[in-house]
Amino acid sequence: MNTFEQAQQRIVVIGAGYSGLMAALRLSPHAQVTLLDPVGHLTERVRLHEVAAGRPESEVTHPLNARFLRHTRITHHTGRAVSLDPAARTVTTDTGLVLPYDRLVYALGSTTRLPDRSERLFTAESAPALHKRLLDGPGRLAVVGGGLTGIEMAAELAERHGRDWQVRLLTSDTLAPGLSVKGRAHLRTTLASLGVRVEEGHRISDPDTVDADAVVWSASMVPNTGLAADAGLALNSVGRIDVDAAHRSVSHPEIYVAGDAGGTHRMSCQAALPMGSRIATSIIAEGRGKGPVAHPVSFVLQCVSLGRRNGLVQSVRSDDSPRELVLTGRPAAFVKEQICASTVKTMSFAARRPGAIPLQPGF
Ligand SMILES: Cc1cc2nc3c(=O)[nH]c(=O)nc-3n(C[C@H](O)[C@H](O)[C@H](O)COP(=O)(O)OP(=O)(O)OC[C@H]3O[C@@H](n4cnc5c(N)ncnc54)[C@H](O)[C@@H]3O)c2cc1C
Repeated sequence: MNTFEQAQQRIVVIGAGYSGLMAALRLSPHAQVTLLDPVGHLTERVRLHEVAAGRPESEVTHPLNARFLRHTRITHHTGRAVSLDPAARTVTTDTGLVLPYDRLVYALGSTTRLPDRSERLFTAESAPALHKRLLDGPGRLAVVGGGLTGIEMAAELAERHGRDWQVRLLTSDTLAPGLSVKGRAHLRTTLASLGVRVEEGHRISDPDTVDADAVVWSASMVPNTGLAADAGLALNSVGRIDVDAAHRSVSHPEIYVAGDAGGTHRMSCQAALPMGSRIATSIIAEGRGKGPVAHPVSFVLQCVSLGRRNGLVQSVRSDDSPRELVLTGRPAAFVKEQICASTVKTMSFAARRPGAIPLQPGF
């Protein structure tokens, strides 16, 4: 494909989270890019526990057009993808649009799966409602899920609302099983100092059985793969889209899968953001008549905020297994905050200088 044909390539990106927006921005000078997302802004999901504790939602949402897209050639549609037809290579939206594509970037992320819905049950996605409920306190709060999102949620809420709310953290496993012994020990000490009671080996399948006035469900992040499954894309053993080394669907290689929706790596912003950029590199290479580029997912750190004044930075091997090296306390809180802030800054930079993004380590 020559440069002219390449510029005519139609790329549809569904989902404007960390991975989808990054892919769209990087691709924008090279192709006709259409970005589809139901909300007109990027939500910093990594800060939703801060919103639950009281941070204004407006501080963690960034308007797509004003902040990222206005100097690009990206066409943005506000709408939800409701069906995908890989044979016709089209995506249909809930507003009735049919978007044809040569390459699709499937970046619909993940969500917390709720076993039930009730007035006293909340998730990270319902953070503003949870905050409202906390202001109606005092009471007993249970966070279900001892992974990193549950831990961050329990610590943040205890630090901010611990005077009015007794906070418990319930988990079926040990606390943060993916961390080192030293890292876990720091979590335990900090949670205890914030007044959080940790109950391990406590499997909850029905939130109604939890003795609490409010329950935050942080137990299961599930990939948004309904659309893919309905369209016949192959899923892997963990229910995510099965992908090859270049993050293309193994059953439909014209569909790239970015972020949490595909693969087997830890669902994370840490993986999603560079993956959006690397997928763009592959699509650009394909447009130039070269093969797609293999990009293994590799990790450096696991970072946990423990309220605003404490944290844990756990050094990990590229396969995400923990080393013994950890940073704790205020320095770790500072590092974690810089990392969170860098996500939006990187995206703004990609909007201005998309070609410079691959020069950054890991991108
Ligand atoms: C409270 C919390 C704290 C976290 N902390 C960290 C952390 O510290 N570090 C870390 O690495 N990760 C963290 N994560 C995980 C991280 O947020 C996710 O892994 C990351 O957001 C995944 O990025 P993504 O691009 O795959 O999708 P997402 O960011 O989930 O974006 C998906 C996008 O798809 C859109 N969408 C959904 N359905 C449709 C549809 N039908 N049509 C069109 N668009 C659609 C959504 O509106 C959204 O914009 C945290 C998550 C939570 C909930």
